[in-house]
Amino acid sequence: METNLLKQLVMASGTSGDEQEIREILYRELVNEADEITFDGLGSFIARKGSKGPKVAIIGHMDEVGFIVKHVSEDGFLSFDTVGSWWNQSMLNHRVEIRTGAGKVAGIIGSIAPHALSEADKARPMEHDAMFIDIGADSAEMVAEMGVAVGDFVCPEPNFAELTQDRILGKALDNRAGCALVAELFKRCENGEITLYAVATVQEEVGLRGAQTSAEAIAPDIAIVIDTMVAGDTPGFDRIKFPLKLGSGAALALFDKRYIPHQKLKQDLVDMARNMAEPLQFCTMKTGATDGGRYNVMGGGRPVVAFCLPTRYLHANSSMISRSDYDSLATLLDHFLATYNAEKHAAICRYIG
Ligand code: ZN
Repeated sequence: METNLLKQLVMASGTSGDEQEIREILYRELVNEADEITFDGLGSFIARKGSKGPKVAIIGHMDEVGFIVKHVSEDGFLSFDTVGSWWNQSMLNHRVEIRTGAGKVAGIIGSIAPHALSEADKARPMEHDAMFIDIGADSAEMVAEMGVAVGDFVCPEPNFAELTQDRILGKALDNRAGCALVAELFKRCENGEITLYAVATVQEEVGLRGAQTSAEAIAPDIAIVIDTMVAGDTPGFDRIKFPLKLGSGAALALFDKRYIPHQKLKQDLVDMARNMAEPLQFCTMKTGATDGGRYNVMGGGRPVVAFCLPTRYLHANSSMISRSDYDSLATLLDHFLATYNAEKHAAICRYIG
């Protein structure tokens, strides 16, 4: 794993609906590798390589959970809405970055000092409606002078660290890790028997919207989704519901709210992993979904399998993944893409006989 691209993607801002920085990084990264780069109507990034054989799409969403400014008070504090799902307890006293028309502005989600809280207040999580962002301004006029306005997107302050030889900590690894892997696979693939699409979708965190629009725009024959999934290997998790561990391999998603993998395709990938001695974990998730939950049904549907990197501290300011899980998934999917062809595709799509 080469972390340069991942670090660039993590340090950029890309709250759902505001993915321009990510789009530009991926464009620069793949413009010389692709035969064509296009965008769907919502702005999802689509790079194509080759023009023969089955159309194979590899997909990662480029947006991240964040916030949007909804009100500026007379005394210069910003109220905000959450974009995507957050736990209020993960937000207080964290530094944020606001992307304004005139550049970036730093701020903090203000907290109340414990000295000023009753015991009952301390026991009660604060609703995000009661929180505010402080950018150091004294008045609404000063906020305007700093270029901040209602509707500006906000994301956690960018951060990236390699903690050990295996562990990477950073903002928005959900799903910049998937974007980095999609780009890496696209660059490596030299299979002239398929038409390969690298897709980075917008607005996944608010309802798989870019998955729907890009699936319709490309109409691929088969889709592999790469995302992240809750790792349950820290204190406090129910290990039956959340079995994934960092460092034990990537996970193949067996079931979620909007998706069940194509069973033949799943079996081929499981067999391939076994033959290559690449570790694979399995997970189910009744309370969420990946872009696989649109690619499977749009435009007549197609075989889809979703892989997820086990991830600690999802939808917070920093999350953690394992480099070996990433590398193992890269090795497996690299081989899958290198060996896929029309004959294999016909076998996957044969439902009778
Ligand atoms: Zn995700």
